[in-house]
Amino acid sequence: MTIRTAQILAVGTELTVGETRDTNSGDLARDLVARGVDVRRIAALPDDLAALGAAFRAAIEDSELVLSTGGLGPTPDDLTREAIATMLGETPAVDPDLERWLRELFARRRIPFPEANRKQAWLIPSAEAIPNANGTAPGWLVRIPGGRVIVALPGPPREMLPMWRDTVLPALAAIGLGRPAVVRTLRLAGIGESAVAERLADLLDPGARPSVATYARAEAVDIRIAASGDGDGDTAERLVDDAEHRILARLGEHVWARDRTTWAEALAVALDQHGWQLAVSEIGLCGALVSLLGDGLGDRLVLAEVRPAPEPGTPSLAARAADLRRAKDEVVGLAAEVRTRGSDTAVSVAVAGPAGSRRERRVVFMGGQIGRGRAALAAADVLLAYLEGRPAGKRTTHRRAQPATVART
Ligand code: ATP
Repeated sequence: MTIRTAQILAVGTELTVGETRDTNSGDLARDLVARGVDVRRIAALPDDLAALGAAFRAAIEDSELVLSTGGLGPTPDDLTREAIATMLGETPAVDPDLERWLRELFARRRIPFPEANRKQAWLIPSAEAIPNANGTAPGWLVRIPGGRVIVALPGPPREMLPMWRDTVLPALAAIGLGRPAVVRTLRLAGIGESAVAERLADLLDPGARPSVATYARAEAVDIRIAASGDGDGDTAERLVDDAEHRILARLGEHVWARDRTTWAEALAVALDQHGWQLAVSEIGLCGALVSLLGDGLGDRLVLAEVRPAPEPGTPSLAARAADLRRAKDEVVGLAAEVRTRGSDTAVSVAVAGPAGSRRERRVVFMGGQIGRGRAALAAADVLLAYLEGRPAGKRTTHRRAQPATVART
C-alpha cells in the first residue's frame, strides 16, 4: 500500500488558547507535500479525551496517515496515548524495555524516577515505539489493519523533528509514501498579490493540474506551482515546467528568486559572481534595510550605517553611495533614504560600484514600519538589478528553470 493522504493533529490546550503557535504541523505538512502526500486537514485540539478520540477517529477514517504532535507527557492532561488506545479498543501496558530506558535516563541525571513517568513507557499491541533522543516521551507508530497508520510524536519541536526525520519518514517510506511530486516556487517583487492573481486567473483554478497558488509574504509574492504524478515523475515535471514557462512569459520581469531563497541569499550569490562586497547606508529606515541584508550576507557586508534622518548639508544620496565605497574597486555602495508621502513611503536608492552608478525612486504602499519594510525590499531589488546588470524591474522573461525538487518513493 502507498500512503497518499494525511491529516495532522496538533494536540494541546496551549495551542487552542493561543499561548503556543503550532509550528509542528506546518513543518510536517511541508515534508509530506514535498513527497506528494495530499495533506487534507490540519487541526489543533485541546487536552480533552473525548475531543481527541473523535478527532483521531474522523482523521483515520478520512486519511491513510494521521500524524499527531503533543500530549505525550507524563501528566494526566497528556492524553494522546489514551485517545488512540481507546479508539482502537486496546489497553496500554508498560513496556519493560521502554521503562528500563526511562529509568536509566533519570538515574543518569541523578533524579528520582517519578511514577507518573511510567505512562511514557506505555505501548499498545498495535504500536511500536519511536525512540526520542532528546526527551522522555517516545512516540508511537501504530499500524492499523488494512494498512492505515497513526504516528504520535511529542510536542517540543527539538524532540519531534529528529524523530520525524530519522525514524518516522524512513519507516513510512518503507511502507510506501506519496507519489513523485514537483514543487516550484517563484518569488516576485514590485507587484502585489492581487495583480499577480489577475494575470494568472486562468491558472489559479483550485482543482487544476498543476496547482498554481499565490502567497503574499512579507518579502515577496510567491507563486507556488505543484504537481504530483502517478508513478511518472516526468509528467509532473513537464506540467510544472509548462506552467512556469507560461507564468514567466506574463510576470518574468518580477521574478527575483526561486523556492525558499531569501533576499540576502540572492544578493550574496550576485555579489559572489563578481567577487564584490557591499557597504550600506540607510536613512530613515530604522534598520529595516540592514536587518533585511545583514545576517545572510556575512562578511560580504563591510559597512552598515543606520541614520535616523537626513542631516542638513550632508552629501546627496548618489555622493553618499560613492563615498561608501571608500575608493575600493570591489565594494558596491548602496544608499537608501525614505520620506513619508501622504500615507505611503517614497524611497530613493543610489548604487555606486565597479559597474557605474544608478539612482532610482519608488513609492511603496503604506507608511510606518510596513512602509519602511517595503522600502527596504525596493532597495534590495534595485541592488539586485544592478548586480545582475539589468535595468531595475526588467528581467529576462525566460530564465532556465532550476533543477526541480523531485521526490520518488
Ligand atoms: P513532553 O513530554 O516534552 O511534555 P508532550 O508531547 O507532552 O511532550 P506537550 O506537553 O504537548 O508535549 O508540549 C510541550 C511543549 O512543546 C509545548 O509547551 C510547546 O513549547 C511545544 N509544542 C507543543 N506542541 C507544539 C506545536 N504544535 N508546535 C510548536 N511547538 C509545540
